[in-house]
Formats: sequence, structure tokens, C-alpha cells
Amino acid sequence: MTTHSPNSWEARAEAHALYGFTDLPSVRERGTVVVTHGEGPYIFDTQGRKYLDSNSGLWNMVAGFDHPGLAEAAKAQYDRFPGYHAFFGRMSDQTVALSERLIEVSPWDRGKVFYTNSGSEANDTLVKMLWFMGRAEGTPAKRKILTRGNAYHGVTAVSASMTAKPYNEVFGLPLDGFIHLTCPHYWREGMEGESEAEFTARLAAELEEVINREGADTIAGFFAEPVLGAGGVIPPPEGYFQAMQAVLRKHGIPLISDEVICGFGRTGNIWGCETYDFVPDAIISSKALTAGYFPMGAVMLGPEMADRLQAAIDPIEEFPHGFTASGHPVGCAVALKAIDVVLEEGLLEAVRAGAGRMEQGLRAIAAHPNIGELRGIGYMWALEAVREGKTPFEGDLSVSERIANTCTDHGLICRPLGQSVVLCPPFTLTDGQMDEMFEKLDAALRKVFAEIT
Ligand code: PMP
Repeated sequence: MTTHSPNSWEARAEAHALYGFTDLPSVRERGTVVVTHGEGPYIFDTQGRKYLDSNSGLWNMVAGFDHPGLAEAAKAQYDRFPGYHAFFGRMSDQTVALSERLIEVSPWDRGKVFYTNSGSEANDTLVKMLWFMGRAEGTPAKRKILTRGNAYHGVTAVSASMTAKPYNEVFGLPLDGFIHLTCPHYWREGMEGESEAEFTARLAAELEEVINREGADTIAGFFAEPVLGAGGVIPPPEGYFQAMQAVLRKHGIPLISDEVICGFGRTGNIWGCETYDFVPDAIISSKALTAGYFPMGAVMLGPEMADRLQAAIDPIEEFPHGFTASGHPVGCAVALKAIDVVLEEGLLEAVRAGAGRMEQGLRAIAAHPNIGELRGIGYMWALEAVREGKTPFEGDLSVSERIANTCTDHGLICRPLGQSVVLCPPFTLTDGQMDEMFEKLDAALRKVFAEIT
């Protein structure tokens, strides 16, 4: 148990701040890391300690913590026009410019964009759009939303209902009409003797069964992350999106790609759907959209969805939805700069070039018998700890929290997720910093495994 002087930052945090998604026994025992500033991929705390943040904050700080161009873009826009909305037929010039740019870099030749403050709100917004369109089209029963086990789509009431995590039971969620299909994790969910292609075929058959059971006329859309992120970094099995999309198309159900994590380079392409070779009907974006330098989310509609929404709006001549800060001019100016940073300052190439090195380094670490699976792509990876084979460690050992805490002691931030630890560094990571990440992770894993095996 740590004790801090009552005036310390740590004590003040514990007295007055609420912690989201935090293992409170760890905070009681270890105190709070109160962050003061950052430099490249490093953060520094009030005690003067330095940590390599291998998680880019929460996947979002893809250009590190001190990119001068992004701060300048924000400052220039604050000086020019510090804030405005997108209601009543008004919106900032930056909002217009970003919408045009997002469609330019989208998988479509035309489309429309709606802005939110977060990824959760973007998912909620799109669900409301689907409900709105269903009613306008004379199919008001089209309300059910399909997602997958272990998916993470956010924390608002709707997006938490899409998030297939048992912890949402404490809120009495999910709401009715949110259906969670099998998580496409071959290593965990594949059956004895089943090939990856057979696993994919089984998941597509499950989708079809659910559609037939519920009725296609009751289903509004299917949302999926190209690689499940907070579900434990789970890339799809072979042919997955092609098989799922074929079933969805047959029944006229839109496929929505939640690119909050994958979007803007994390998988080595601008979109995860590009990496996995499918064209969705809509995209949800956030996080790297502004390189984490401003809170913002976007709903991007492809041509068909944009037309459907417009047709639904036409009779009432209004879409009654929007946030005070939708299309905030500073957020839009920062996003325009962030897109340039990723596409024109070589960050996409950096991920492509570094991904092999990252995999190789992690593969060497994953040779340890207590690592069951290494999985990932680009700059998003997870190592899953096991007692042996595929058998997890006993829950009361809190293995991934121990690993993450030991990493913190070694000056490395990484995130516990189930029994896995996640690494998703900024795209600006140098080779030397990548080696530092490997060394610290390896040392922490060896220490923890020696303690509990
Ligand atoms: N979708 C995905 C795939 C996410 O990973 C997240 C956040 N981690 C969200 C939605 C929700 O975004 P936010 O935290 O900005 O509400």
C-alpha cells in the first residue's frame, strides 16, 4: 500500500478523481501515475519517471506526444476561429475541408461525413441513422444490431450494448436487440481439427442462421472492427470479411467497419478494410483521426448509405441529431494535419517497414513456454499468457495486470487485456526505441513467469 503526503498529486488524484477502466487494487497498492508531459513515444510523471508508452496512449497518439505540426495546426486554428457548431445551416470552413478530404481518402468515390466527439458517439450516431432510415423506408422493425463476441465499440448505452463484454452486465446491458455473434478468434474458437477456412465458413453459416432466425427485416446492420482491438488484437481468419459480406449482401444488411483503432495506418494501410480487402457500407473513425491531439469521431457513409440517409431526411427536411462540438473547427484543422502527417510524412511507410521487425522481435519473446499465442498485424500486437498449451493462468493470479505493472516498474507502459498484453506503439517509434520495448517487455515477462510458475 502506498501512502502519499496529502498534497501530493497522487493523493489529490485519489481524493478527487474517478478512474475509468482501472484495476483499483493496483492503484491502492501502487498509486497513480500522474502524467505531466510527453516526448516522442515517452511520457513523464510528477515523480520525474520516464515511461515508453507502447500503447500510444489508447492507440491514438500515433505521431507521438510532441509532434510540432499538430500543435501548430491547433494553435493556428484557435487564433483564427476557436470553436463553432454545425447546426442550423452553418459550419466552419475546416469542417467542409475535412469532409472533402475524408471522402477523398475513403474507399469510395463519393459519400458524406458526420462528426462526433468520440468513437462511442460515432457508433451511436450510425445506429440512430440506421433506425431513422428503417422508419423512413417503412421498415420500422429494422432495428437489431449484430456485432461479435469480445468486440469493443464504446461505452455509451448503445455502443456499450454493441460491446460484447461481460463487464457491461453491471449496467444491465446490453439493451434488447443487440446480438453478439462468435468472436472470430481461430486459436481460441476454432474446433479440434477445423481448418481456418472451415472456421470462417462456420462463422458465415452462423451469421446466416441468425439472420434467418431473427428475420432480415428486423436487422439494421452488422458492425465489425477489421482487427478486434480491445478484444485482444484479433485479426480475422482467412477469407472472413468476404464470407461475411456475401451473406450480408444476400440479405440487404449493411456492413459497417469500425475503424476507430485500425483507421489511419495501424494495420499498414490507411484503412483496416483495405488491408483485409473489403469495401464496407460505412466507416466509424476516431482516435488517429486527429492523432489523438483533439477528441473527435466521424461517421463516414459510402454512396449507398449517404443516398439512403438523404432519402430519409427529404420528407422531414432535417436530421434531428448532432453534438455541440460536432465538426469543431480546431478538431477539423488538427485532423486535416494528422491525415497529412500519416500520409505525407511517411508514417504509413514507417508502419509497413517496421511491422516485420516488430513481429520478429515479439516472436523471439513469444518463444517463452508461457506465451500461448502471438497475434497481430502492422503496429498492433498481443501476447497471450498461458499456464501451458491454451490453458489460462488461474484468474486470481491476475497475470496480465502483473505483467503490465512489472513493465511499468521497468519504465514500459503496456496494457493488460484478458490474459494478454497489448503493444501498439506510435508509428514514429525508432528502431532503438523498439529494441528498448522488446528488452523491457522480455525482462518483465520473465520476472512474472518465474514468480508464478
Ligand atoms: N470502437 C472501437 C473499435 C474502439 O476501440 C473504441 C475505443 N477504444 C471505440 C469504438 C470507442 O471510442 P471512444 O473511446 O472514443 O468513445
